[in-house]
Amino acid sequence: MLHLKAEPVANEVYARVTRAAQLVREKTGHSPTLATVLVGEDPASQVYVRKKGEMCHKLGLGHRDYKLLPDVTQDVLFDTVRKLNADPEVDGILVQSPLPKGLDEAAVFDLIDPKKDVDCFSPYNVGLLSQGRGTLLPCTPAGVMEILRHNKIDIAGKRALVVGRSDIVGKPMALLLLHAHATVTVAHSKTRDLAACVAESDIVVAAIGRARFLKGDLPWKKDAVVIDVGINRTPEGKLCGDVAFDEIAPKVAAITPVPGGVGPMTIAMLMVNTVRAAMLRKGISYKEL
Ligand code: NAP
Repeated sequence: MLHLKAEPVANEVYARVTRAAQLVREKTGHSPTLATVLVGEDPASQVYVRKKGEMCHKLGLGHRDYKLLPDVTQDVLFDTVRKLNADPEVDGILVQSPLPKGLDEAAVFDLIDPKKDVDCFSPYNVGLLSQGRGTLLPCTPAGVMEILRHNKIDIAGKRALVVGRSDIVGKPMALLLLHAHATVTVAHSKTRDLAACVAESDIVVAAIGRARFLKGDLPWKKDAVVIDVGINRTPEGKLCGDVAFDEIAPKVAAITPVPGGVGPMTIAMLMVNTVRAAMLRKGISYKEL
């Protein structure tokens, strides 16, 4: 059984990002730059934004760090996004989710210039994604595709099951697998016979948000590839995924661990999107990125 770890995949992605960022600098004198906007003091969001900034610095990308008070008005947040949309030095805009209660998250995401929408939340980019013409791809599902590609896991013609249908993970994941020619089933909380879906699936992506929800007693195919997007904490405070790793690992061909599986790929793909956004805006081909 193969452990699909993120580290070698992320390192390969970072090497590509570094080369592409260098190309942008050589051609334009400009460093691809990410602006992060953090509203409030949610500890997990603070950690996520800090890590994104640190990665930009590590790779030689620019990082602008905007921190707004938890009681900021919608108008001030809109103004911040408008200024970043208009700023020629900013290539990518990331407004850290979730926003404090009372702020309209969808309206904020709608306002981000699609060319700078490095999270791929804007309806324009989601539309391109659904047509298979996406340029900025949603980070976590794109990271899963990198794991599959790096490990030479065939997708075309395979039966893929995505458990979860969120806008951030489940739906875009299903679309990316579909565009890679898998036959895709999407399961959710109203799905009647999840075991029957698992029984016929060659690739299973779990994005449920419930600790160890998919268990070893499901009818796993022995050559199945299991990708665990979940990040949960057990009552003891330990990090765990949406699949019961220890129970399932002996029964399948390959599986991602938590932590160290999908998680690190999200930041890696955000860096890809930041450089891609810069290349798109400067008219530089980004195909190899
Ligand atoms: P979400 O928005 O809460 O969506 C969860 C999905 O799971 C929903 O579609 C829900 O169905 C489905 N679900 C709930 N109970 C189910 C059940 N009993 N059977 C089948 N499906 C069920 O969560 P999310 O944002 O997609 O995140 C999912 C997990 O991925 C979380 O653990 C999150 O922390 C993690 N995550 C990780 C990363 C990363 O960087 N690795 C990034 C994003 C998210 P309904 O639609 O019917 O309610």
